[in-house]
Amino acid sequence: MTHLGCSLLSCGVVDDRHFEMEDYQGAIARWCPGCGDHSILTAMQRLLEEEQLKPEETVFVSGIGCSSRFPHYMKTYGFHGLHGRALPVATGIKLERPDLHVFVTMGDGDCCSIGAGHWIHAVRYNVDMVALLLDNNMYGLTKGQTSPTTPATFPSNTQPYGSYLQPLNPLTATLGVTNASFVAQTAEWIPAHLFETLKAAYHHKGFAFVRILQRCPVYTESIYQDAVRQPDVIEMLIHDDGIHIPDLDEIYKNQIIHDPGNLDEARRLAEPFDRFRLGIFYRNEKRPRYEDLRRLPVRTAEEKVELLNEELDRYAV
Ligand code: SF4
Repeated sequence: MTHLGCSLLSCGVVDDRHFEMEDYQGAIARWCPGCGDHSILTAMQRLLEEEQLKPEETVFVSGIGCSSRFPHYMKTYGFHGLHGRALPVATGIKLERPDLHVFVTMGDGDCCSIGAGHWIHAVRYNVDMVALLLDNNMYGLTKGQTSPTTPATFPSNTQPYGSYLQPLNPLTATLGVTNASFVAQTAEWIPAHLFETLKAAYHHKGFAFVRILQRCPVYTESIYQDAVRQPDVIEMLIHDDGIHIPDLDEIYKNQIIHDPGNLDEARRLAEPFDRFRLGIFYRNEKRPRYEDLRRLPVRTAEEKVELLNEELDRYAV
């Protein structure tokens, strides 16, 4: 860690720490070679470095799945929880410690299946955090079962003749929830777009939902193969209030000018299509946030202990 900048802490001590990438790097990632999760991890560590987030004020929360190993690979606080339960844990953390930067990583099984109820209500509560859906269209950790986002007819260990159902669309599902305030989609194989999307989500005040198209070379290699090899399969949503990376214009020539403030258009663009659309679909910082609405008094740790003891005394015999 180098020491460059400085700021005055409330206790009067000067905090002159400057963080490098290595200050955010935890354990060596054990994902498969070629797994898209590696590039998402790197993009996230880059974001923390650029924003100079203090590791002790940053927390990653996950459920169960390949992507849920994420907190182990960050040198921040982390909570590797139960399957589908990352969002209620993260909500509790943020409500109790609004000063923390809260990030959630979920897989498609974790978020869209067992955690779907929590997902819908987290969008409605609109608590300030970044929620990432790392979507490889399959249960990877448990060795290849059909997930809610597996494309119809795509074979898996549980449906070897192909998935019976049409996949759930995480974008239209999120955009359909009352109080949705930020919905974006990016792809892990386009690092510049991935980084800018994470950055926009981090700066959003409210619940920022980002679906990241993620390659899984073990179970779903063919799903994103065309999108990786043929840039024409991708359509970039661009706008002054959205994401526009001029350096990518030469590669990704299919572009749609989309104002992220237009919810109806966002829903239309998020509908299933034979191309992958990347960018910010919707952003509205005027949506109410649960932490502002409930207005609980801020209490010190001593006051909380005192209140807890008072409650326990009520049951004294
Ligand atoms: Fe990544 Fe797929 Fe391997 Fe899981 S099984 S670590 S998603 S490549």
